[in-house]
Formats: sequence, structure tokens, C-alpha cells
Amino acid sequence: MDKTLKHKAAMQKQKEKVDKNIAAATIERGIVILLTGNGKGKSSSAFGMVLRCLGYGHKVGIVQFIKGAQRCGEAAFLQQNHPEVDFHQMATGFTWNTQDRDGDIAAAEKTWSYAERLLQDDSVYLVVLDELTYMLAYHYLEEEKVLAAIRNRPSEQSVVVTGRGGGSSIREIADTVAEVNDIKHAFKAGIKARPGIDM
Ligand code: ATP
Ligand code: MG
Repeated sequence: MDKTLKHKAAMQKQKEKVDKNIAAATIERGIVILLTGNGKGKSSSAFGMVLRCLGYGHKVGIVQFIKGAQRCGEAAFLQQNHPEVDFHQMATGFTWNTQDRDGDIAAAEKTWSYAERLLQDDSVYLVVLDELTYMLAYHYLEEEKVLAAIRNRPSEQSVVVTGRGGGSSIREIADTVAEVNDIKHAFKAGIKARPGIDM
């Protein structure tokens, strides 16, 4: 068989497989996605989904744990007037900067209260809980409370949780779990974090 015919046959077979899988997925409900691992691309992927949702005219809620003390592009954009996005930041910075456990816990609790509200609002199609895994790893938030709020969300609502490590309990309730592997990172070659790319 020549190359063209062989390719056509292989693609035909592939199409049958894909079509069968598409037909088999019939359940309609919101999902929980956990993006974890040591590589770059967890938070930026979450914001990619935010953009997609906005494209369909959906309302989105975003809660960023840890972040807010340093400049970042998504906050610069979202703090302008975007009525379809409900955006909150913990704004304490990294735990190794604050070095204040009680202060961090109080800030985590206050930030979580925004998340809890979003997780009860069925007009919100997507909730992003950026860097939430650290709040569980450091026991800043009570795990059961977090899991229950995610589990009891409106059925059409999806949730994206990001953060390295510490997500084992969320891993269990998540429908989609992806781990970004660190193969290379520019920072390790001495290249400064780039506005818009890394922050
Ligand atoms: P991003 O926000 O770019 O998608 P991320 O959410 O996957 O990254 P975090 O662990 O939240 O990664 O870290 C945020 C910052 O750390 C970003 O500036 C990112 O470029 C940088 N970073 C991510 N992975 C690595 C790595 N393996 N080595 C060094 N820096 C990293
Ligand atoms: Mg991140």
C-alpha cells in the first residue's frame, strides 16, 4: 500500500475510535480539575480556562491564595472593571516571606470565605482556587471544610484547583488530575521572571 492510502486507513481507524469515545461520554455536569506538579503551567492553564468560559459569556469566580503581594498580570487585568469576573486575592505573599503563621491563617480563612460564597452560587460557571493546595499542606484551612464545599457546589459548576504538592485529598474528589513535570525552567538558567509570561 502506498503512503497516502496507508495514512487514510490509519486516520479512518483513528476517527472511528475518537467518535466512539465521544459517543460514550454522555454525562453532563461540572467537574473538579486539579493541576499540580513542579513544572510551569498550572495557574496559567487555569487562566486559559477562565478566558474560554468568558468566551461563552459565563460568570467566573477566582480566588488566589498566597498571591497578591507581588505584581501579576492577571490581577492587573482583572482588577479593572470586568463585571463577569469575581476576583479575590489573599495578598499575604508566600509563607516564607510572611513568616507569620497566625497572620497567614487569619488571611487564609478570610480568603476562603470568598471561595465558599462562590461555591454556593449557581450563577458562577467556573471557580478557580489558585494555589489552594498550600493552604491544605500547611493546615491553614480545615481540609474537611474545603472538600465539603467543593463537593456540595452547584452541579453545573466546575472548579479548578492549582498548586504543587499537598493536593492528595483533592486528588481523590477531582475528575481530572494533571501533573505538570519540570523538564526545564528558564529561571534555573538565570533568566529573570518575565512580566506576562511568569507573572
Ligand atoms: P504559571 O503561573 O507560570 O502557570 P505555575 O502556576 O505552574 O506557573 P507555581 O508553582 O504557581 O507555577 O509558580 C509560579 C511562578 O514560579 C511562575 O513565575 C512560574 O514561572 C515559576 N515556576 C513554575 N515552575 C517553575 C520551576 N520548575 N522552576 C522555577 N520556577 C518555576
Ligand atoms: Mg501557580
